[in-house]
Amino acid sequence: MKLLETLIVGGGISGLSAAWQLNRIGQDVTLWEAEPRLGGKIVTNSDQGYTTEQSASMVLNFRPEVSRFLKESGLNNQKLLRTPTSMRYVISQGSLQNIPMKMGGMLISPLWSLPGKLRLMLEPFILKGAAEHESVADFIRRRLGNEMLDKALGAYISGTLASDPELADSRSVLPHLTALERRYGSLTAGVFARKILNRKKASVTEGFSFQGGMSTLISELSKPLSDKIHTGHTIQDISRHGKYWLVSAQTRQGDQSCLVKNLVLCTPAELSARLLKQHNPELSSLLDGIEYASVSVVHLGYHKQQVRHPLEGTGFLTPWHEKLKLNGSMWMHSLFPGRAPKDHVLLSNYLGGARRPEIANWTNQMRIDTACFELKNLIGTKGEPDWARVDAHQRALPLYHGKYHLRQKMIANQLNTMPGLHLNANYLGGVSIRDRIVSAQKLALTLNEHTSSIRSSTLHTAPLRCRA
Ligand SMILES: Cc1cc2nc3c(=O)[nH]c(=O)nc-3n(C[C@H](O)[C@H](O)[C@H](O)COP(=O)(O)OP(=O)(O)OC[C@H]3O[C@@H](n4cnc5c(N)ncnc54)[C@H](O)[C@@H]3O)c2cc1C
Repeated sequence: MKLLETLIVGGGISGLSAAWQLNRIGQDVTLWEAEPRLGGKIVTNSDQGYTTEQSASMVLNFRPEVSRFLKESGLNNQKLLRTPTSMRYVISQGSLQNIPMKMGGMLISPLWSLPGKLRLMLEPFILKGAAEHESVADFIRRRLGNEMLDKALGAYISGTLASDPELADSRSVLPHLTALERRYGSLTAGVFARKILNRKKASVTEGFSFQGGMSTLISELSKPLSDKIHTGHTIQDISRHGKYWLVSAQTRQGDQSCLVKNLVLCTPAELSARLLKQHNPELSSLLDGIEYASVSVVHLGYHKQQVRHPLEGTGFLTPWHEKLKLNGSMWMHSLFPGRAPKDHVLLSNYLGGARRPEIANWTNQMRIDTACFELKNLIGTKGEPDWARVDAHQRALPLYHGKYHLRQKMIANQLNTMPGLHLNANYLGGVSIRDRIVSAQKLALTLNEHTSSIRSSTLHTAPLRCRA
């Protein structure tokens, strides 16, 4: 039977970027993906002049590791930066309100009341929280006040992560902000300190897609791996075989098995839970307990004369108390050139998430009708859309709800008892593409160190030969 050094299961961005990193540092790696194509959630579709994304529409990056990865993979040359615009909107009392991104702008914005602004200015004087666990909503309320949560950040958490801020774990969902508080005592002090300390090495935050859309990320990463990737390989079972894992998959050519030194599961939590049930029931139940939210993306194309609003900007987010069904809308024609036919606009609208689970059971027509109805009131669309498409994901995103940082810690502890097994997927370390690339890099370094230490210990224990 074939013996593989490292087998990665799952060809979404988590698996593919891990395979790419391992291959780059000269590790022997193989990837099995169940579907006939790679990319998992990431798919770009083109139809009648509209280019849409099935899930992720852009990478928002501030990590130097990701910038380095883009350069090394050649993807930097294909990067398509989003149009620079300062206009981002939030819904306030049923209409669009520009949301300022800088402190000065916040203090003169009509979005917040005078007491809300004063509360925001108190942030540096608020004492450090003592609780081991705190929800995102409680963390924001405590540091920045109710209005910041209700009118802006709550909408950001539910709009971009499909999460419920009252249930989401602040340490897992806002790791950078909570770390600033722990280290510097306040967010304001932390931001200033970071600016001064990191002045030279700080990476600027940039939002980008790629020429040809997000699928380019997948196609470019898979190029150097073509002989190592096997699509149509659905993993069925894993078992321990001495110091190796015996892995079986269903393929177009029948069942296939192999022995593996390092097995990396980059698959959704429920599959990893099922595969591990016999081997580690505790780990399996930790994975099985991860909740997922459903999300539907309703893409609508209109002639620009059908819309009253100028639609210049990134789009809008909807606070919960506005009682709308849309979590938000991204104006893709304004963010990236060439996404809609000439004189047309493309709006990608998000429905569902943890707070609106019922939308998972709707028909696509209900989703389109709801989006059209709410857009009519919010941005003044007239008549039927010129074009529509719905991408519905039943299990779109893992929710970092409850004491999620403890769940992640317990998963890591269990993995330490299972040599040769690794988990690398969007339920650990963040759901964004940025976080997936950073996690893949960490995994590649760990595996590389492990292999090098085995090699060097083999070298040291090899018998010394006398020179003739
Ligand atoms: C609607 C939506 C919008 C989003 N927007 C953004 C955004 O704008 N920016 C951003 O950074 N992130 C965004 N995200 C998050 C990001 O897209 C995902 O977190 C990320 O793509 C998940 O990658 P993954 O590889 O962990 O999982 P997946 O993409 O789910 O990949 C898992 C892979 O495992 C394979 N698999 C499953 N079972 C088996 C088996 N038995 N054998 C072999 N293979 C198997 C699957 O076929 C799949 O290819 C969005 C997500 C959604 C749903």
